[in-house]
Amino acid sequence: MTRRSDPLLKVKWEADKLLQELGIDSLPVDPFVIAERLGIALQAMPSRMGGASGMLIHVAGQFGICFPTHIDSEGFKNFSVAHEIGHYRLPGHVEAVLNEQGQHVSAAGFRSSSRYELEADHFAAALLMPTRLVSSILKKAGDGLKAVESIANECDTSLEAAAIRYAQLCPDPAAVIRSQGATIEYAFMSSSLRDFAGLDWIRKDTPLPSNSATREFNLEATNISHSRRSEGDGALQDWFGGPYRQEVFEEVVGLGSYGKSLTVLTGMQPPDEIEYEDDDEEDQALEESWTPRFRR
Ligand SMILES: [Zn+2]
Repeated sequence: MTRRSDPLLKVKWEADKLLQELGIDSLPVDPFVIAERLGIALQAMPSRMGGASGMLIHVAGQFGICFPTHIDSEGFKNFSVAHEIGHYRLPGHVEAVLNEQGQHVSAAGFRSSSRYELEADHFAAALLMPTRLVSSILKKAGDGLKAVESIANECDTSLEAAAIRYAQLCPDPAAVIRSQGATIEYAFMSSSLRDFAGLDWIRKDTPLPSNSATREFNLEATNISHSRRSEGDGALQDWFGGPYRQEVFEEVVGLGSYGKSLTVLTGMQPPDEIEYEDDDEEDQALEESWTPRFRR
């Protein structure tokens, strides 16, 4: 499979550029401080704006960001503010997203299929979890859910945003999947998993594998609302198809009142490594069965 060029590379580059301009080089990155330094006014969002994650406002030459108060998660608040900074900074966004009243109501958190919302989400992820700083966390954090939690803790972001960044930056084959009920909402594959030959891309709204730990986990609503977790061994093929039956380690965690769960898949080996090992073992077995014993 040829590696696709990343259409969001420019978005992430814009986030890096802003951090550089402001001389920010340590974690956690505080988006409230960034907004202040950019001269953007900050205001708590009225709780009646229930479904919105935040707002960008432009009135009389002054930009403002409204941040959510209805969600009890510092990580999500940070992400929402960083998302609005994305609209403020990314070329073409202000013109495209503000309505006639100079307002934009956001649905941050990888929930929207709008190009501008997704770009602002990826900007937010790259701003709060800069490549270089997260890569150094990954060197000591192990892999899977444990690594995702280290990123979320050190960067003060939501687990979900940390998981997506994990899939983008981890050097090993890995995938993160968000699901609700029996349905997959999205999947991100690490670049080394994308290099496996013959795998299918998981599409939005496909069913979870019937024998997966996640499918079973999602059957019990309190697993999700109480942020419980579960794990299991499965097969990569059940998730991504392809010609190779390979073991995969599956970890799932409930995302709380949000009603969704997050799955992290790790432990896959590149197919040629597996082939090579199998061939080797077979060759060795064959050799042994044909090697006259008295030669030893
Ligand atoms: Zn938005």
